[in-house]
Amino acid sequence: MKLICINCPRGCELSVTETDGGISVEGHACPRGETYGRDEYSVPVRMVTGLVKVAGARRPLPVKTRQPVPKGKIYEITNLLANTTVLPPKSIGDVIIDNVCGTGVDIVATANYS
Ligand code: SF4
Repeated sequence: MKLICINCPRGCELSVTETDGGISVEGHACPRGETYGRDEYSVPVRMVTGLVKVAGARRPLPVKTRQPVPKGKIYEITNLLANTTVLPPKSIGDVIIDNVCGTGVDIVATANYS
C-alpha cells in the first residue's frame, strides 16, 4: 500500500506492507510517519467536522469529533449531523452528541452560540 504521510508539509511517500512479523513501513523520515503508516494500514481514522441546525435560527453551529473516528463511520456520522438540531446557547467544547454512532467519541461544538 502506498501512502503520503500527512503529518507535516514534507509529505513523505510511504510504502506499507504486511510481513510475517507484522506491518512494515518504509519511506518515512521520522517516527510519526511510521506510526501514521501502521495506523492507516490497520485502522484508518479521521477527524469529522460539520454543521448542525440550531432551533429557531438560520445560522448553524459548527461541530467536530473530539478525537479521530474510524473512516468507515464517517458517512453515518455526517448523515446524523445533517439530521441533528440543537437548542441554543452552546459553548465551545459542549458535547452535542455523546458516543456518536457507537464510536466512543463525542461530537463537540467548535464555536460559541447564544
Ligand atoms: S514521515 Fe515525518 S517528515 Fe515525513 S511527512 Fe511524515 S511527519 Fe513529515
